[in-house]
Amino acid sequence: MSEIMIRFDKQGIFYDKGIAAKILGKLQEYLDDGKRGLRVMHVCGTHEHVIAQAGIRSMLPKNVEVISGPGCPVCVCSTADIYKALLLANDGHMIATFGDMMRVPSEKGSLQDAKARGKDVRVVYSIDDAVQNAKDNPSREVIFFAAGFETFVPVVAASILAGPPPNLSFLCSLKTITPVMDLLLSLGNIQLDGFITPGHVSTIIGTKPYDVFANAYKMPIVTAGFQPNDILLAIAMIARQVRDREPRNENEYKGIVKSEGNVKALELMHDVFDEATVVWRGIGPVPNGGLEIKKKYGHLDANARFGLDTRTDASIGKNKGIPPGCSCHLVIMGQIGPHACPLFKSRKCNPQNPIGPCMVSDEGTCRIASLYDEDQSE
Ligand code: SF4
Repeated sequence: MSEIMIRFDKQGIFYDKGIAAKILGKLQEYLDDGKRGLRVMHVCGTHEHVIAQAGIRSMLPKNVEVISGPGCPVCVCSTADIYKALLLANDGHMIATFGDMMRVPSEKGSLQDAKARGKDVRVVYSIDDAVQNAKDNPSREVIFFAAGFETFVPVVAASILAGPPPNLSFLCSLKTITPVMDLLLSLGNIQLDGFITPGHVSTIIGTKPYDVFANAYKMPIVTAGFQPNDILLAIAMIARQVRDREPRNENEYKGIVKSEGNVKALELMHDVFDEATVVWRGIGPVPNGGLEIKKKYGHLDANARFGLDTRTDASIGKNKGIPPGCSCHLVIMGQIGPHACPLFKSRKCNPQNPIGPCMVSDEGTCRIASLYDEDQSE
């Protein structure tokens, strides 16, 4: 039986050290015994969590870099969307949202600040909780504030199709991952040898949408699962593609992810949502980078129900929604790691006192680095 290495943290993480050593041996071989370096980006907060938790960067050869890209939906939720939720709370309506949205800072404060001022902002653990809140308070308007990637979108779509209570509406900050990968590559200001694509998003969208990156951009792609050895294997698979000069769209997570994705979930998604150009915090507008509720379900869209798009404040979203001194726009784009931010180094920004959005969510790169003291430059 192979030796099992256990790295303990709050939850504990287990993986087979023998298999990891074999993968690392293969990686060295694919890098021509270390003569060639490798720079890969993942776009997934869960991948970043596993990488930091398992200490993967410290296991890799010095000339292999794994960069965290825009993979945290809470971090990239635009301040305009947070502002809309605050407007609704100030109007006396009930806001129901997931816990990590509460502390996301904006020019007008956070939802937690609004709650402290006596506004009705409630943490929910599922959309069902928001539905129940609406049923329990039939004379109130309840708004479910939803931020997420494609993994979460079918759940929102199913809830809309199920016919929610008439006093429930949806304020959506839903993003799609391939358009932002496209934007990153088209900007050309980041040198990459390959992308690790997220296993959970890919269970919904499949691997076909990544073909364009291998075909048009000649960028190696590997869709990976969430065990440390899944990620190590994905890195080695990218190194092999680079060695062979054959960029491909490979799937390391075959048992879970199909090339066509989850057809039923995609049908739900396309029935309820249209692709739209939306603002990603720290990045700006991303063409087709998000989803809007279709007009036929407009009565459930908080934007339409409360005329939110006409209630703007020109100061919102300036500097891409990034607070002064915060480098989240560079962290989100993979241009620097958290340790390069002076506020991270000085500990002025920390999980108890987050200055930027990347320090709030469990999927935020700065928060993860702070929890595991992970230096991405290693
Ligand atoms: S450490 Fe804080 S201030 Fe610096 S980039 Fe991260 S979230 Fe922004």
